[in-house]
Amino acid sequence: MRSKAHLLIFVGIMAGALAGLILSKYEGSDAQGRVLYILDLFGKTIFIGALKMIVAPLIFFSIIAAITSLADTKELGRIGWKTLVFYLMTTSMAVGLGLLFVHLIKPGHSANRREIRKNWQQQQVRLHEKYGAAEAKIEEARDQSASAIIKRNLENIIINPFLALAQSHSLGIIFFAILLGVALIVIGPEGHKVLPVLHGLNTAILKITGWIMAGSAFFIFCLVASIVGSVGPGIFSMLFWYIVTVLGGIAVHVGVLLSIGFLLGRVNPFFFLKSIKEAWMIAFATRSTAVTLPVSMDSVQNRLKVSEKVTRFVLPLGATINMDGTALYEGVAVIFLIQLFGGMPGAEITLTPVATILIFLTAVLASIGAAAVPDAGLVTMVLVANAVGLSVEYIPLIFAVDAFLDMFRTSTNMMGDCVGAVVINRLEKFT
Ligand code: ASP
Repeated sequence: MRSKAHLLIFVGIMAGALAGLILSKYEGSDAQGRVLYILDLFGKTIFIGALKMIVAPLIFFSIIAAITSLADTKELGRIGWKTLVFYLMTTSMAVGLGLLFVHLIKPGHSANRREIRKNWQQQQVRLHEKYGAAEAKIEEARDQSASAIIKRNLENIIINPFLALAQSHSLGIIFFAILLGVALIVIGPEGHKVLPVLHGLNTAILKITGWIMAGSAFFIFCLVASIVGSVGPGIFSMLFWYIVTVLGGIAVHVGVLLSIGFLLGRVNPFFFLKSIKEAWMIAFATRSTAVTLPVSMDSVQNRLKVSEKVTRFVLPLGATINMDGTALYEGVAVIFLIQLFGGMPGAEITLTPVATILIFLTAVLASIGAAAVPDAGLVTMVLVANAVGLSVEYIPLIFAVDAFLDMFRTSTNMMGDCVGAVVINRLEKFT
């Protein structure tokens, strides 16, 4: 990516935030509706649409390219296990940090607690009118249990690969690409014939990414203006301590990730941040780790100098299953709602150590099950709520700030994947 690109993107984010603030002053007007429509047309339909267009083939060809460049299947097993263990550990740390913060700060015991509880019926009606679409997604997930999520994930893994590609089921794409990659190595000379074609296709897809990114600053302006313009700053005061808790936890976790990258991956934290800054901003604005994948792969391979095979294997896998920011957020959100509504119908829960452990485990699982797309964490959070018996009726309270928090959790998710790549690269002694 060009050297000045990050500056342009930064200007796009700032200008977008400013334009959004101005737009939010016209809440509910026709003019606001029309401007939001145009912003979404450029930001979501064209930009995110174009990135989505290439993500499924990119994951597919990247994984095959990575597998077929490994020495043997033993190397695949080794890298695979290290990656899974690393991701599981960092996700668990993230949830642990979130739970610590929410217990220390107690955002649910804020000064306006009584008022929120008293007016909850009216609030619910208002939230229903405003966030009906988000509520519908939550409703769909209402009866999900941990075993249902495992079953659904298995169904998405063992699936017709064309369907997986068409519907962007990353787990299914990764699984079939690994199988095909291994088979190509195992069959020998016949398999070797197609390798240059696959590697060529992979490079061509990265080229298309470059073309799409050429206009990224403008598109990001549209995305940020649309989010800020439709939310507005008003709601932030009501949920202030909740936001502080999530962002505080995320900030500390970013420090943990940078330390891990330094200690285990031997990468200077400043150099690391400098290398991934474009990817960070794209993740922040698009709220999708999957859509950011082409950019994060470019940064990790070309700037952090992680080997091609580790980049191509570890990052797509990370974007699919490793979500530190999401896991942290899910634990915090559920405990916040219990602190706030505890004792009301559907929230008769005492935060015992057992309940906290349940929240810890399900938050890890729910983050693994979350798709790398905007708002996914909000939906899989239902699983965490279900595990401790919190009614989903209380979740709409946090809808209004979810897009804002999604920006931070998505960029943290992406950062966790990149640290994973750096560490695995080092452990495999590729640098
Ligand atoms: N948007 C996040 C991601 O793509 C997932 C989430 O909603 O937490 O990583």
